[in-house]
Amino acid sequence: MLQSSANLERARTTLREVFGFESFRMVQEQVVGRVLGGQSTLAVMPTGAGKSLTYQLPAVMLEGTCVVISPLIALMHDQLRSARANGIRAATLTSADADWRETQDAFRAGALDLLYVAPERASQPQFRDFLSAAPLALFAVDEAHCVSEWGHDFRPDYRQLRPLMDAFGDVPRLALTATADLRTRGDILGQLGIPDDGLVISGFDRPNIRYTIRPRDNLSRQLERLVDEQPGPGIVYAGTRKKVEDLATSLARSTGRPVLPYHAGLPAEQRAANQAEFVASEDMVMVATIAFGMGIDKPDVRFVAHAGVPKSIEAYYQETGRAGRDGDPAEAVMLWSAGDFATARMRIGELDEARQMGERQRLDGLAALVEAATCRRAILLRHFGETPSESCGNCDNCLNPPQVLEVTELAQKLLSACYRTGQSFGFGHLQKVLTGASDARVIERGHDRLSVYGIVEGEEAALLQPVSRALQARGCLVPNEHGGLALGGEARALLKGEAGLSITKPPARSERRQRRSRN
Ligand code: ADP
Ligand code: ZN
Repeated sequence: MLQSSANLERARTTLREVFGFESFRMVQEQVVGRVLGGQSTLAVMPTGAGKSLTYQLPAVMLEGTCVVISPLIALMHDQLRSARANGIRAATLTSADADWRETQDAFRAGALDLLYVAPERASQPQFRDFLSAAPLALFAVDEAHCVSEWGHDFRPDYRQLRPLMDAFGDVPRLALTATADLRTRGDILGQLGIPDDGLVISGFDRPNIRYTIRPRDNLSRQLERLVDEQPGPGIVYAGTRKKVEDLATSLARSTGRPVLPYHAGLPAEQRAANQAEFVASEDMVMVATIAFGMGIDKPDVRFVAHAGVPKSIEAYYQETGRAGRDGDPAEAVMLWSAGDFATARMRIGELDEARQMGERQRLDGLAALVEAATCRRAILLRHFGETPSESCGNCDNCLNPPQVLEVTELAQKLLSACYRTGQSFGFGHLQKVLTGASDARVIERGHDRLSVYGIVEGEEAALLQPVSRALQARGCLVPNEHGGLALGGEARALLKGEAGLSITKPPARSERRQRRSRN
C-alpha cells in the first residue's frame, strides 16, 4: 500500500512517462488512487473509457505482479501487445502460448508487472500454488459482469475467482465492467467480495452519438441512405451470416463504398485481414455479426447501424458505443421489425428455464426503448443508474418529437380478431377480416360472419401494422413457425382493459419523398 497524495503525484508521472498520456480520463484517477491505496474496487466504465489503464498503471508502480483475469484470449493478446509496447513487463498464460516456462520463471523471479490468465486457469488448484511463489500486487478481474448469472454473459468459472482471491486475502481486487445494470453491480460486489463502498461509476453519456430507432421498411434503401450521408467508416450489425453476406454485397453495389463482411463463418485469417483493413480505412463499411467489434481500437467510426434488434439495452449501448470514440459526431441507427422480437422471444423459449426470465426482462427493456416516444438517451442513462435530464437534443425523439397515439381500442380489436379466428392466421388475414375485405379465404372460413369483421375503418386501418408491430415487440402477439399469430404475454390484460397501448406515429412519408426528389 502506498500513501495517497504522494501516490497520485507519482501516478501522474508514470502516466506520462510510461503511457504517454497527459492526464487521466474521467474516473481513472479515482480508481487508480483507490488501487494504489490497497482498496478493493468495482469500476463501472463505458467501453473506450480506458479501463485497462486503471490496473496497468498500478501494476507498473506497485511491488509484485498484477494478475489479470480476462475471458478472451484474443483480447488478452491485444492487451499484451499494447502493454509491451509501453515497456511494461507483461505475459499471458493461455492455451495459445508456447512460452509457459519462461513466463513461469519470470513470475517466480518477480520480473512480471502483469500476468494475464483465463478464468478456467485461475480456478485450478495448481494455479493457486503457483501464485504463492511470488508477491502479488493486485487481482484485476476484467469483464466482471461474467460473474453474475443475472448478467448477459455468465461464465461459471468466474465463480471460482472468489476462493482464489480469498486465499490471498491482503491483495486488493479491482473488478472492471462496461455494462452493468444495478442488479448486476450488486452481484459483482457480492460474488467477488468487494465492499459496497468500493463502487466507482463513470458517466455513461456519449453526447456525440445521435440515437435513431425506427422500423425497418426497406432495409437496403434505409442503409444505403445512411451510408450515403456518412462518408466515414461505419459498422452495420446483422443477425446471421447469410444476412451479413447479402447486405455486404448489396451495399457494395448500391453505395460504391468499400464494404467487407465479418462473421464467425469466415476463416480466421480472413476475419483478421478484414478487421485490419477496416481499422486502417477511412471510408469502409463493415457488415458484421456481433462477433465483430470487441477490443477493436478504431476511434473514428462514424456510424453503427443495427439491421435488427440487439439482445438488450446493455448490448445496444455497448455496440453503438463503438461509434465516435474520437468525440466527433456519430450516428447510431437501429432498424427493427416485429419479426426480430418474435425470433428473439422464440430463442429465449429454447434456453434453460433458469435463464428465460432474465433474458425476457432484458428484451422487454429493449422493446420499451424501441417503442419509446421520449428521449432515448435518458432511457439509456437511467438504465445505468444515472439521473439524466428529460431531453438531450441529440436523439430522434428529441429532434422530432413523435406524435403519441393512444391505440388500446385498436389493439383490442386486433387481439380479438386473432382470438376469434383461432389464433393461427397471419397479420395479413387478420387485417382483411378487420377491414371487412371480401376476400375468398376470409369468406371460405366464415370469417366474414364474425363480430370483428369490418370493425376497423378509415384512418385506423393504416395503424393496424404499427399496432401489430408494437404488440409483437411486447410479446402480446406471438407468431408460430408458419407466421400465424397467437396471443401471448399481456394480451389478456389488454383485452380486459387492464393494460393499455400507445404507439408513436410511424415516420412521415415526406422524408422518403424528399429523398426521391433529391436524386
Ligand atoms: P476500455 O477497456 O475501457 O474499453 P481501453 O482500456 O481499451 O478502454 O482504452 C481505450 C483507449 O483509450 C485506448 O486507446 C487507450 O490507449 C486510451 N486511453 C486510456 N486512458 C487514456 C488517457 N488517460 N488519455 C488518453 N487516452 C487514454
Ligand atoms: Zn434525446
